[in-house]
Amino acid sequence: MNHEELWQAVLAQIQLNISQANFATWFKNTRILGKKEEKVVISVPNSFAKEWLENKYNKLIFKILHSLDEGIKGVRYEIGKTGLKVFKKSPLPISETEQLEFPEFKIDKETNLNPRYAFENFVIGPFNELPQAAAWAVTKNPGSIYNPLFIYGGVGLGKTHLLQAIGNEIVKNFPKKKIRYIPCEKFTSGIINSIRNHSIESFKSKYRAIDILIIDDVQFLAGKEKTQEEFFHIFNTLYERDKQIILSSDRSPKAIPALTERLRSRFEGGMIADISLPDLETRIAILKTKAQEKRINFPSEVFSYIATKIQKNIRELEGALNRLIAYQKLKKQVPDVETTKNLLKKIIISPVKITTPKKIIQGVAEFYDLKEKDLQSSSRKKEIVKPRQVAMYLLREILKCSYPFIGRKFGGRDHTTAIHAYGKILKELEKDENLKEEINLIKQRISSV
Ligand code: ADP
Ligand code: MG
Repeated sequence: MNHEELWQAVLAQIQLNISQANFATWFKNTRILGKKEEKVVISVPNSFAKEWLENKYNKLIFKILHSLDEGIKGVRYEIGKTGLKVFKKSPLPISETEQLEFPEFKIDKETNLNPRYAFENFVIGPFNELPQAAAWAVTKNPGSIYNPLFIYGGVGLGKTHLLQAIGNEIVKNFPKKKIRYIPCEKFTSGIINSIRNHSIESFKSKYRAIDILIIDDVQFLAGKEKTQEEFFHIFNTLYERDKQIILSSDRSPKAIPALTERLRSRFEGGMIADISLPDLETRIAILKTKAQEKRINFPSEVFSYIATKIQKNIRELEGALNRLIAYQKLKKQVPDVETTKNLLKKIIISPVKITTPKKIIQGVAEFYDLKEKDLQSSSRKKEIVKPRQVAMYLLREILKCSYPFIGRKFGGRDHTTAIHAYGKILKELEKDENLKEEINLIKQRISSV
């Protein structure tokens, strides 16, 4: 494996461990420059990225590098002049629509669609037959049969794939139609920003001009009243003009908390289809299809083994496959079931991790570079107050700890302090993208220890 292949293999693993947004932000334009004294030197585009990789991702990067090549003993980051165009030409003999490539480089600016997601590479089984059929029907007659089309299902089961495939297919069938795909969180922050900048009218008129509006993960509308209100009006305008609306969510409209009744009834007014869990045969078929796309083959016992072990998430199935591909390239050897078992044990199927209050406090302290005892002290210094509130928030959010318990954990405070902290962070999360990012990173950190 040369440097480039090694880095591609690392990125493929990282992509599975962090959010798409973080991945795009921090790993764009990075590459391996070389090795110096058993340390891998990674070129990064700027000092900001350097700092983040060093502080937040070093452990993960090192762990993966080391698992691929045990000779690697450390990682260093250097700001490079040209980290550009590294991903564009993948050295691996792989196809266009492929996971190891990095989609954000190909996303269409106008529609926001990623051509990687198509009907052609979407495997159908009993678990997704209905949503697939509904989706396909919509591509033939947008705006007229199922409106809105509401697709829901668990994480990593193909919602985004299907939504984007609809968009891509409509681009082909109706090139004149204005299509826009947008993750709900982005849509929400768009609304909030335009309210703040007094440009909500132009925001709305932009959306009213769309023929096909696709919003992914609408469960994030939960509790966001102002966004829901604006969205309601956009929805109505589009709907009245027979424009197609396609939505996804990780749960049914009924199960989305704090969703206004009128919006819920709009969501339920068209076609609702859920993606359930793929059965064993379909999981094997998905693995085989993905392997074929990558022009690589494994013994069928290997496919069966992975499919038996990973049952609930297609993204994880792909992750396991990528792991095997990296192994095969490195060792130039086809993995057997025994090897597969070991490989998956290391990376994919980590035992269920139990989060404790201690781990959360530790994670928050580490993230903000504070001592745990300072976090738990009664200090009112600004640089401590916010992290403390974040820790309180997370204790409540992740572990559902009681407010009196949280108060006690932090220097014997009253339960009202904990309630206040929780509410404050919750509210700030609505408008503060940075805070959201921080909290996501902290959560990742907590779940990886
Ligand atoms: P979700 O949005 O539901 O979390 P994604 O659409 O992101 O899930 O799917 C996760 C990964 O699994 C993607 O890489 C996607 O291409 C793949 N995938 C999901 N469902 C299928 C399917 N039926 N056939 C092929 N690949 C799939
Ligand atoms: Mg998704």
